[in-house]
Formats: sequence, structure tokens, C-alpha cells
Amino acid sequence: MTRRFVSTFKAPKGTYDLLPPESADFLAVREALARPLRRSGYGYVETPGFENVELFARGVGESTDIVTKEMYTLTTKGGDELALRPEGTASVLRAALEANLHKAGNLPVKLWYSGSYYRYERPQKGRYRHFSQVGAEAIGAEDPALDAELILLAHDAYRSLGLRDFRILLNSLGDKRCRPAYRAALQEFLRGLDLDEDTRARIEINPLRVLDDKRESVQRQLTGAPMMRDHLCEECKTFHEEVRSLLTDAGVAFEDDPRLVRGLDYYTRTTFEFVHDGLGSQSAVGGGGRYDGLSEMIGGPALPSVGWALGVDRTVLALRAEGVELELPAATEVFAVPIGEEARRRMFALVTALRREGVAADLAYGGRSMKNAMKSANRSGARYALLLGERDLAEGVAQFKDLHSGEQTSVSLDRVVAELTAKLR
Ligand code: AMP
Repeated sequence: MTRRFVSTFKAPKGTYDLLPPESADFLAVREALARPLRRSGYGYVETPGFENVELFARGVGESTDIVTKEMYTLTTKGGDELALRPEGTASVLRAALEANLHKAGNLPVKLWYSGSYYRYERPQKGRYRHFSQVGAEAIGAEDPALDAELILLAHDAYRSLGLRDFRILLNSLGDKRCRPAYRAALQEFLRGLDLDEDTRARIEINPLRVLDDKRESVQRQLTGAPMMRDHLCEECKTFHEEVRSLLTDAGVAFEDDPRLVRGLDYYTRTTFEFVHDGLGSQSAVGGGGRYDGLSEMIGGPALPSVGWALGVDRTVLALRAEGVELELPAATEVFAVPIGEEARRRMFALVTALRREGVAADLAYGGRSMKNAMKSANRSGARYALLLGERDLAEGVAQFKDLHSGEQTSVSLDRVVAELTAKLR
């Protein structure tokens, strides 16, 4: 008798497992988000899943929700203070600086990445504690064409997947020349409003974030608030106009959103977000912007840069919301069903040969009955079942069964690999 083992463990709160067949969609989405970057001069970078906690505190910002509430921090046995990475930009910039990529005289350094990120957030649909992003950074050049390039590449990536109902929101947050005066003007305006204690505290630390408050009671009072776009210096204005006109020339529609500030402190000038209207409250599928001061904030030289991160989980949800079916290559094209010991041995060799020819092939393992094995063949989604019984062996043939039409043909054993490969290609 076999004893049933019932697992009492569950995936931690706010996380979920990716399992077949849905996991294939995730892989395809990651691949599609990265494809435009690979053909645009971005090189692949991979950094550790954790970093010194200070990197994020300084890089992302001491006053942000990410740093104050959402980081998974830990102290190692050796006494190091680490944090699971909540986002990618600070790590990628840290890696580029550490390897002196910026000194090779080849700016901008263009990098892309893909991986897991961790935030201790209140879980809900589209918001998880472990999620997946594909990101891109162009480090070390103050060129509005890079901002436009990145927005275009994200746009093209979403389009290549078949997404339609997304919008691009665009804003400029100014720079260290024009933002301080704007910040002061905004603070003065906000101090005169009727706000709760937390929000009043935020006015003093990061007043721009108040503009992003989703509550109706706050939004109502913000009518007439000073807007960054009316306070941009000439340089920021010219830069922003150039980004806008490059996008327009490329035929990409965007919406100017003067209240778009985003939740990370490092942004300067260009900020943008891709929102999808079928996702409810967690509508941002991706976002990014320029971070001209970040390198200096983490101890590096001045390296004006721009980047984005696109959420893989939410992109998959957006595809489902639009009813887009991805066209994925068949996981299995041929499913082999041997009957008897000798057939099993022969079939194992045939399946290996098929795989080496690039055919996706699988085999009924575990010595199951013919009926049972045919069920697996049908479930596998394969186009052909390859059958081999004792009589076939005696005659030196195998049977191809077309699982769409049900038609069955007999093929000489030494022609099986060549004929199946030809049929499928
Ligand atoms: P952010 O770094 O917050 O701008 O995030 C970039 C993108 O990552 C967002 O637009 C989302 O698509 C995705 N993302 C961020 N946080 C989460 C989360 N907790 N769960 C799922 N996706 C997320």
C-alpha cells in the first residue's frame, strides 16, 4: 500500500507558484519584453538577489514606502545588513560602477535584466510580495533620444504580445536647478489644505508624493496645486519637448500627466508609466524615468541615466484581461507509446534521435497500458503519436497516428526519424 503524503506547506502569503501550462505564458512574456532590447544594443546583466540594505536606502530613498515599509531585510550571521532587492535600478547601477563599465569610454552603458523582486506589500490581485520584472537601463548619457528609445522599446514589446488597451503617461519632474523652487511652492500650497497627520508629514519629506495620493478627499483639494510643468527651467523644458516630439514622430501616442510622480525618489526629468485599463487598481504594467542624480547618491560620479522596469506578472494579467492568446510553440510534437519491453528500448532510442533533430518529443514512461498511454498522448497536445507494438517490431515498422485526423500509417523503423522530422517542418 502506498501512503498518501499530504503537504501542509503552502506558498508564503503574497506569492504564487508558476506551473504548467500557464508558466509557458510567463516565459513567453519575459522573452517578448526583452526581445526589443536585445536588438537595440542592450547587454544582459545579472546581479544578486540581495544587496547591502544601504544601497536601497540611499538609492531608492529613505522616505519612500519601498524603503520604510516594504523591504525584506536580514542580518547575516557575519553581521551584514542585507535586503532582498525591491527593484533593479540601484543594483544594476552599483554593478556598472563596481566594474567600471562607465570608464571604458563607451557611454551610454546599455543593460537589460530579468528577475525576481521582493516587496512586503499588502497582497491583492496584481500586487504580490514576490514578482518578476524585465528592466533596462541606459547609463551615462543626457540624451532625450534615450528616453524616447526606452519608451518606444517598451511600447513595441507590449504591442508584439498583442496588447492594445494600454496608455503611456508622461511627465517631467525637473532637475536640481528647478525642482527646489517648485517643491517649496508646492509645500506652501499643501500646508494650507485639510489633510491627515501622515500626509502632513509627507509634505515636509516628499511633497511631490502627495500629488500621487489616490484618495478622492485628497485629490479634490489638489485642484489649483502648482504643477512641475509650469516651473520647469529652460533646459528641462527643452529636454522634455524633445522626448515628446521624438515619440510623436515615431507615431507613439502618450498622455501628458502632470501629476505622475512615481514612488521612488531618484527620478529627475522624464518619468513615465504604462497603465492598462483592464487591471483595476493595480493598473501600472511598467514604468520608469530618468535618474540623473542616482549615481552620485550611491557614491559614484555624475552619470545621467534613464531606465524602466516592466512587470511580468501584470503583463500576463493584462493579456488575460484582453483575452489575448499567445501563440506558443507546441511543448510536445510527438508522443511515443511503446507496448512491451523491447519496444520500450527501441522507442527510447527513437525519441532521443528525434530530440536531437530538434523535434519536441516525449515518451509514455512507467510501463502503462496502451489506453492510459494514449490518454497522455492526447493530453500532451502532440500532433503525432508514435506507436510501437510487438507485431510492429517483428515487421520492422512503427505506426504514426495523426492525433488531429485520427489517420494512422505504417512507416519502416529506419525511416521514422526522417519522416516525422519532414512532416513537422
Ligand atoms: P516600480 O518599480 O514600482 O515602478 O514597478 C515597475 C513595475 O513592476 C510595475 O509597473 C508593476 O508592473 C511591477 N510591480 C511592482 N510592484 C509589484 C508587485 N508588488 N507585484 C506585482 N508587480 C509589481
